[in-house]
Amino acid sequence: MVDSRIMADEKEITFDESAVAEAEIEPDESSETEPVKEPDENSAADGDDVEAVCPVGMGYIVGQRCERKLHVALYGADEKPVCLMHSKDPNKQSRPLFDEFWREFERILEAAGEGVAHFERFVFPELDFSKRKFQAICRFDYATFTQNANFFKATFTRNADFTGATFTQYAYFWNATFTKAANFLRATFTLDADFSDAAFMLDASFFAATFTQAASFVDTTFHGTADWRKCKFLNQAEFRQTKFEPQVEGQPSAAFALASFSKPGEIVFDDVDLSRILFHNCDVSQVLFTSSVRWAKREGNRGLAVFEETIPLDQQYAKGLHRDGQRAYRAVKQIYQQLKKNYDSSLDYWTANEFHFGEMEMMRLAEPTRGLLSPGRWMRQWWHPRLSFVALSLYKYASDYGNSYGKPMLWLLGILVLFAALLPLPGVGLKRQGAKQAETYASVWRSEDGWTPNLWTEARLAGKSAITSVDAATFQKSAEYAPAYPWGRVLAIFETLLTSTLFALFLLAIRRQFRR
Ligand SMILES: [Zn+2]
Repeated sequence: MVDSRIMADEKEITFDESAVAEAEIEPDESSETEPVKEPDENSAADGDDVEAVCPVGMGYIVGQRCERKLHVALYGADEKPVCLMHSKDPNKQSRPLFDEFWREFERILEAAGEGVAHFERFVFPELDFSKRKFQAICRFDYATFTQNANFFKATFTRNADFTGATFTQYAYFWNATFTKAANFLRATFTLDADFSDAAFMLDASFFAATFTQAASFVDTTFHGTADWRKCKFLNQAEFRQTKFEPQVEGQPSAAFALASFSKPGEIVFDDVDLSRILFHNCDVSQVLFTSSVRWAKREGNRGLAVFEETIPLDQQYAKGLHRDGQRAYRAVKQIYQQLKKNYDSSLDYWTANEFHFGEMEMMRLAEPTRGLLSPGRWMRQWWHPRLSFVALSLYKYASDYGNSYGKPMLWLLGILVLFAALLPLPGVGLKRQGAKQAETYASVWRSEDGWTPNLWTEARLAGKSAITSVDAATFQKSAEYAPAYPWGRVLAIFETLLTSTLFALFLLAIRRQFRR
């Protein structure tokens, strides 16, 4: 279902673009030079007998034309003669042309019923559709709204198509309801675009649209996916209390991939659920996220997550998230880095740390773990990624990538206890200063004595071993007991390495948590 929708979208784009190209070709020329269109050639051959009609392309079929009678516009208003609906004649703004325009508009709408109403490439004078209910599929593709376009509280019960439309003045869609799909792809909003309080019951596409001035999506409700991919926000945009409530499981609530923000500081997300919004390939390092935005939580209370990490990869919006048959972890890492930078620069270190875990985790998962390469590159291409993987894994399990200072402390205690238990093992042993023989669990056991005294001796040995273990961890050399040569020494060296590493991780985590 999803795929067919993309195809439909793509078809639409290609069709529309071809139609643009078509329209730009001079109408007279096209009928003469294009050998494919036989009827046109015939009509050209017929010559003067055929009444000239509006050549603007319309409808779904390439080559389908408007064919309304030509309008005599103010000199220079139109490059080519077109009908009243397609004319840029400024006189359309006043009577009687204004009335004539709207009479034709209403006629089209009524004739369409619940079918398709074709307004493609119409040039609209000032319009007021407040509280208007549109029952037809409205095709405003590539239309130009030369004055304010007021759709306040308007309801579209079927698809509303504004693909490639140009809003020269204010576009008011305040409180409008889009019951079915709403398409504003490649639309241009020259002045403010207000979609506040509007409700989009299905998908809303602003793909590659341009918002030149303010874009308001305050209290707007989206029940499908809001697509702002490749969108250009040249000025401020407000997403305050915007309700993203996608109805389909696994579907993102919004996608901003490749969107550009010219004034990122003016892009505000406030009191918004961001758990299913996609931000990959889009710089969010300076966008303003207020403290009331809600990010998705990682499992096991390990910070915050973005949807790119969990979105099913067969999803159409996950297109840019594939790499070598798996998730593009580097792309996801980039978002975490940007978010970390974003919160760091607003001095919210706590939230920045919440994204630090995700960043490190993506870095760990991005390391390739397969394939042996040529020996020359072996060190760089085989060993290096594996070493990083191991190091990052240790970093993760020992301290949640520096986010936890409790974890390295627990590990440190565990290591101390483990080595205290290992040192008196037979073959290892503890050596008292000046003694010839090392003491082990086995060597201190006297079979002639009973159980109780023997257990006491073992307990004393364990105590000495515990002190020796602490000595090794704290670099103490002048202890009464020392690990016996050679295996005891080897163990002690290992212990010193491990405990000092863990202590360093503990200090790093403390610094991360409590920096100013
Ligand atoms: Zn026309």
